[in-house]
Amino acid sequence: MHHHTTDHHHIPIRVQDEGSILLGWHPELAAAIRPFAALRPPTVHCQIAMLAIPADMPLQVYEATIGQPPFLIENLSFSDWASLVHVLQSRPEQLEAKIHDLASNIVESCRKAAIENRELNLIIAKAEKIILELHGYDSSHLDTAGHVSFSERAETFSEAYIDRKSLSQVELEYFRKKEAERLSNAHTELTPLMRDAGHKFSRNRPFLPLASSTWTEKAVQHVHNRLWKLDTFNYTAPISVEAYMALAAITDAEVDNCRSAARNGTIYFPATRGGFDGEFPPIAKLEKGKCPNKPLLHQKGIPKFPADLSELKKLWNAGRPYLKCVCLGCEQNFTWFDHMIWYVIGNLEKIDPLAPSDKIKMLEFQALLRTTWRKAILEQISFVFMREYMIKIVNLLTENRRISAAEILDYEDFRYIDFSQWKTEDWDGDQKKNRTNRSSPATTQTD
Ligand SMILES: [Zn+2]
Ligand SMILES: [Zn+2]
Repeated sequence: MHHHTTDHHHIPIRVQDEGSILLGWHPELAAAIRPFAALRPPTVHCQIAMLAIPADMPLQVYEATIGQPPFLIENLSFSDWASLVHVLQSRPEQLEAKIHDLASNIVESCRKAAIENRELNLIIAKAEKIILELHGYDSSHLDTAGHVSFSERAETFSEAYIDRKSLSQVELEYFRKKEAERLSNAHTELTPLMRDAGHKFSRNRPFLPLASSTWTEKAVQHVHNRLWKLDTFNYTAPISVEAYMALAAITDAEVDNCRSAARNGTIYFPATRGGFDGEFPPIAKLEKGKCPNKPLLHQKGIPKFPADLSELKKLWNAGRPYLKCVCLGCEQNFTWFDHMIWYVIGNLEKIDPLAPSDKIKMLEFQALLRTTWRKAILEQISFVFMREYMIKIVNLLTENRRISAAEILDYEDFRYIDFSQWKTEDWDGDQKKNRTNRSSPATTQTD
């Protein structure tokens, strides 16, 4: 038995492994990672995903960037690892090409991640300013957002300084290589966004969920994989559709259905009807002090139009599956379904404490996703698509704030969406007039 306390987000290390090269690596990966154990161990989630793939695959991944930083082993995301499972299950002959693709994209994705880490606050502030103004809300708190100082990571030494050191070709090449490594790792040094939870929906909290899954996967490390501890409730777990497909063995046809459900605004488990009982873990298992009773799964409704600032901030969770207990007057009783999934992957003993290894726990967890929780995973995938549509509209609006609803509908991606459900006519530049003529919203949000 290895020690594993709920409040640690690092990998449990067996006492007998102390002093070995396995520091930071999952003990069950020992044999698979021995050739590259000196590399920086990836997150718990990545290592759990590595337990879910054939034992020889981590080595293949290692060899794809051998000697050439940034290394895949250090930089693949949880969804990248899971996507390997998906390829292996659905088209194994393409596995090598998939690993090759990941390898040839890794420099670019590290570069993008570094830019996002530096610019995210500004990107969100600019977009929020436009959205708030379109809806006729005050946005003056965002005017200075560009002046917030970030710990920017540039070159370690100036070019002139290095020139004057008259380094040999070998010395210079070595230095450049190390410098490239430092830069590619820069995005792992995140400014954590653990803001006061009591202010989650206060006026000045950022609310637009524009952060990438790469960013979210890094940020959530700072809150021990409890996504609900980040600065807003709007973050989704960094699990891609392909990763859900891999974990729950979802087919392409099923994903097509989810896309249709998103386009039609179909809600299978509205709060007004009885929820779905998937024998989900009590929310108290995710965090002490929360409700110990079994929760049911529901989905957020699709609001006709956000009636006030608080609804505008919650709009991005339209269609999102969540867990809520049935007890009356219980307040510690809510979590997003995907937040639970992410937390459980990092804490598999919450689901199956008796299983003899994490490898089996992960297998049993995947079995659960494929059977009892399958329906919930399909709703989650539908929500991922709904969220994508919403963010695309935000991007169109922020690129061109004079764009009309008719123009938005003209975009290829939206051509088949039934926007009568979404009331996008309210999204044209004429917000103030619309808001005063409007009746009250149909959907209330309960968190
Ligand atoms: Zn520990
Ligand atoms: Zn309760």
